[in-house]
Amino acid sequence: MTNKIRWAELFPDEFLERQASQSVVYLPMGMCEPHGHIAVLGLDTIKADYLCEEAARRFGGIVAPTQGYQIHESGYHAPWLAEVVGNVRPFMTAMPPHVMLYFFLYQLRAFHNANFKTAIVLTGHAGGNEQDFELAARHFAQVSDMQVRVFADPELVRGQFTGDHAGAYEISQLLHIAPTMVDLSKHDRINDADSLGRFAQGKDALAASATQGEAIMEASLAKLHQVVNACSAAASAVSRPFLSYETIESVWETLKLDAPNWRTRRLNVGQTPASAESMWKPFEQV
Ligand SMILES: [Zn+2]
Repeated sequence: MTNKIRWAELFPDEFLERQASQSVVYLPMGMCEPHGHIAVLGLDTIKADYLCEEAARRFGGIVAPTQGYQIHESGYHAPWLAEVVGNVRPFMTAMPPHVMLYFFLYQLRAFHNANFKTAIVLTGHAGGNEQDFELAARHFAQVSDMQVRVFADPELVRGQFTGDHAGAYEISQLLHIAPTMVDLSKHDRINDADSLGRFAQGKDALAASATQGEAIMEASLAKLHQVVNACSAAASAVSRPFLSYETIESVWETLKLDAPNWRTRRLNVGQTPASAESMWKPFEQV
């Protein structure tokens, strides 16, 4: 069997062979957003790619084209941006929830129609968006028996490590998998008058290490291994019927009715709203 794991790089016979051996598709989700001055903007994408590619290499399956756009700005994100980024351009690849969740239903359709038994969705952008993709997956389950599992990467290591934003957790991850994407010497730029300010840099970022990153990533992969095994054991043997646009539009209608429950449209419980002067204020209510 080929050792290539990317959907886009497989010939049709290679695709069928890999899928017959392990009928799992991985969707890496990330985005570009501020990760301080010490890390590249695509940290979330890079780690999602790494975990999906390593999982496919070690446990089988195929990695779908990476999604480099994610929900940000809306709901609880807005006061967070006001606090840790402020009124500067954040160089983000952010999308509103209704765009991403609508698109996600069609991504799941594509995986279903490619006849996968299981889809594992892994987002490197954490903090609540994963709950909305889970909600969308539950609605999708009305029309498909494909198993869908959604994780933000810190959920894979819950109880072992605590996720953060551009702090010791995330910077360690990146130091392990892509050390040239980290430059701790830029740490003090948060204080430079001509810089972008804090730019969401984590306060304990200098405590990061590649060793810690390796421990986090290996623990994440151990959990993914469990998930893949459990899904393989539970997968139905029948081939999936081809889903139409109309079917997905009907799922979207029910997901829209659930919009009051979308996590990314709400503030966190007890969260202080952004001030009226913040450029992020209008995004609290979308
Ligand atoms: Zn991140």
